[in-house]
Amino acid sequence: MAWRKVRESVQLSSLCKGLGLTRTPVHARGVTTKADPFTTNNTSDDILQVNNGEQLFSKLTSKELLKTLLNLQLVAYEPVVDLSIKILTSSWMKSPLFRAAVVPVLDKTAYSHFCAGENVEAASRTLARMWELGLRGVMTYGLEDATDSDSCDQNLEKFLQVVRQTSQLPPESVSMACVKISAICPIQILERVSNLLRWQHVKKDHKLPWKQDAIPVLAESSPTYHVQSPPEPLSEVEESHLAHAHNRLAKLCQACESEGIPLLVDAEYSVVQPAIDYIINVAASEFNRGRLPLVYATIQTYLKDSFPRLSLAVKSSHHRGLSYGVKVVRGAYISRENALAAALRVPSPIHSDIGATHRCYNFCAGYMLEQASSEDVSVVLATHNMESGRAAAAKVQELGLSRGNPRVQFAQLKGMADVLSLSLAHAGFRVSKVLPFGTVPEFVPYIVRRAEENRGLLGNTAIDRQYLRAELRRRLQHSLTS
Ligand SMILES: Cc1cc2nc3c(=O)[nH]c(=O)nc-3n(C[C@H](O)[C@H](O)[C@H](O)COP(=O)(O)OP(=O)(O)OC[C@H]3O[C@@H](n4cnc5c(N)ncnc54)[C@H](O)[C@@H]3O)c2cc1C
Repeated sequence: MAWRKVRESVQLSSLCKGLGLTRTPVHARGVTTKADPFTTNNTSDDILQVNNGEQLFSKLTSKELLKTLLNLQLVAYEPVVDLSIKILTSSWMKSPLFRAAVVPVLDKTAYSHFCAGENVEAASRTLARMWELGLRGVMTYGLEDATDSDSCDQNLEKFLQVVRQTSQLPPESVSMACVKISAICPIQILERVSNLLRWQHVKKDHKLPWKQDAIPVLAESSPTYHVQSPPEPLSEVEESHLAHAHNRLAKLCQACESEGIPLLVDAEYSVVQPAIDYIINVAASEFNRGRLPLVYATIQTYLKDSFPRLSLAVKSSHHRGLSYGVKVVRGAYISRENALAAALRVPSPIHSDIGATHRCYNFCAGYMLEQASSEDVSVVLATHNMESGRAAAAKVQELGLSRGNPRVQFAQLKGMADVLSLSLAHAGFRVSKVLPFGTVPEFVPYIVRRAEENRGLLGNTAIDRQYLRAELRRRLQHSLTS
């Protein structure tokens, strides 16, 4: 409607002045600069046609674009993030009055930007919106570590509720389910099992009576500094906790199988990761018997031993007649890993510079795509990095894989890298947004942890902000001249 357009343009023009959006866009002047996202690294044969902002954002309203831009601008500013973490983790938050003042601000900013809603119904509405934009969704309850059996059971119920919700949503709109093992197995059991697995990796004849035959989790080069002396064997109670964790994951796999969606399992930090991989691999022996895997592990390519572990898992799955699925990420626990290694005076398990991590990510992604073109192997490339997305898209093309091949998927978090998500989807790839949900109080520890452990994550949004600004400028100009 005409009045709506005028109102939008008036509101936009006053807001745009504040954001410096009223200048003529660089691409409209026919000048190319290094900072111009519409020309940087963007060739005519680029599979990701990011240079067409009008087409890319066609289904998003200016209000949505502006809100996204404002929120990204806010979280890119480190002092704001530092202050927010201080406030959210302070004892003042216990005061109802203080909370009443803070929660509405959070609700309008970081919460609405990164969180898909209060509950599974609200998250489903966000997912339906993603589906309209050509994206699929992975709903995930933003849960923290569990310390006892009861909380593991309660968490499992929440994960199952999300999986069951799939049948209420448009067919195909839910791409995968997602779980973190530390929410369904007490964290201290994961630590104990990891230590025992590491000890056996060093002392090959060390007996672990509870250990089931599964794909190995550690490569020759995997670090074992976490355990210095023989750990106590698991007690009967600990063994039963471990058995319950296997059962919980199996229940979730069965639910996913009956809904016809794969299950992604998050990677966490190295103190507990061997146990997580072991629990996944036991489930894989049962559920990855078809040509497409049901259960996916996650590999963190910031780890120096990531590629040896990845190729070991691929070969070992092949050898056992199993399909293999993995989500490839850079990794989110860099400060925790570095701090532990420094405390133990051992070299960090993380690549020494970001360039090495980028190379490792792209190498592992390329390897998995090659495998996917010839073996029963599937990959989810979970990244916000435009260059990694572009390189993977080119590799898919080079290998002659179809862009909609179910063995290859891309994923980004809600509120992050929308330009990459939309351009990949426009090019015909399968792209998902991970949609964490929960109430504001439940969401606070989740967002604080993400911000603390992954300082670079929130600031790495320059490309998106540039594209959003350019599209808003274009719309503003268009509405002023038409
Ligand atoms: C869908 C999805 C699922 C995810 N699941 C998991 C998960 O299960 N487990 C998990 O750990 N993470 C997970 N992540 C987070 C992920 O690991 C990254 O932290 C995040 O996505 C940023 O990496 P990027 O690929 O998007 O690349 P970029 O935007 O290029 O990010 C680069 C970041 O990598 C970090 N970095 C890595 N190595 C180094 C190094 N050697 N030196 C300095 N900085 C370094 C820095 O923080 C830097 O900001 C997930 C991310 C997505 C999108």
